[in-house]
Amino acid sequence: MGRANYSFDGETVVVTGGSSGIGRAVARRFGGAGANVVVADVREAPKAASGEDERAPTHARIRQDGGTASFVETDVSDPRQLESVVEAAREFGGVDVMVNNAGIFRGAPLLQTESETLDELYGVNVRSVLVGTRAAAQDMLDRGAEGTILNTASISSEFGQANHAAYDATKGAVMMLTRVAALELAQSGVRVNAVAPGSIDTRIGSSHSNRSEPPESGWQKLRKDIPMGRSADPEEIAGNYLFLASEDASYVTGHLLYADGGYAAL
Ligand code: NAD
Repeated sequence: MGRANYSFDGETVVVTGGSSGIGRAVARRFGGAGANVVVADVREAPKAASGEDERAPTHARIRQDGGTASFVETDVSDPRQLESVVEAAREFGGVDVMVNNAGIFRGAPLLQTESETLDELYGVNVRSVLVGTRAAAQDMLDRGAEGTILNTASISSEFGQANHAAYDATKGAVMMLTRVAALELAQSGVRVNAVAPGSIDTRIGSSHSNRSEPPESGWQKLRKDIPMGRSADPEEIAGNYLFLASEDASYVTGHLLYADGGYAAL
């Protein structure tokens, strides 16, 4: 099977949450396609879990591969920090592709879900998408440039899982922000789309208390229910972001592209 050979030569791509998982794979793929990649994350590389090799930061890997990349330490839940990443990208001619991908997971039964947990999730998973979209779109409009905004949604944007109320609510919000932003920007040359992953092998599902979930709830049930019968590597879905940012998707806006092993077809 072939692999698309996109070219983003000289274009500036900001990837939030680009130090790990899906964001790292997306940043590396854009870097390989000639883009000037700005990785915005709270940390440069994930702390190695025991038995795992320390990995080079994404921007360092992209440079090793011959691409151009930089890292900006950013807490995306702080609007000023995220806005300043977009401002800094003006140095490279402005943002052409904004990937609002950073996200965190917290799981708990609804009756034990603290309202502070919802606030924390909203700050990282939702407010950052609004702020990143607003800042990048304004930058594109100011320059009279066409551009693309890509959000990482989830199958949780549309399908709920027991014990995931707060997280799933944030991903539902990402879907709506994608659609409404696409509508408002439809005639401006700025397209807004989302990739909605299913179960992808990253750190997000292992870093929190969901190991104690009963088997018939949450992540474990989700993995069991996937029609293709498996999770995916981040590299397997990264190309979807490049497709949506490319000219091949020039008539696609407000769309959620499920990369989920068939889950949304259930
Ligand atoms: P991950 O934990 O490997 O990567 C998330 C990255 O976001 C990390 O590098 C982390 O440092 C960064 N991050 C977290 N909080 C941040 C903050 N406040 N500011 C800046 N960066 C921050 O997980 P992932 O699975 O690659 O997650 C990426 C996105 O994919 C998330 O939005 C997640 O909700 C979504 N998603 C993941 C799956 C999955 O199965 N892995 C499924 C659907 C959607």
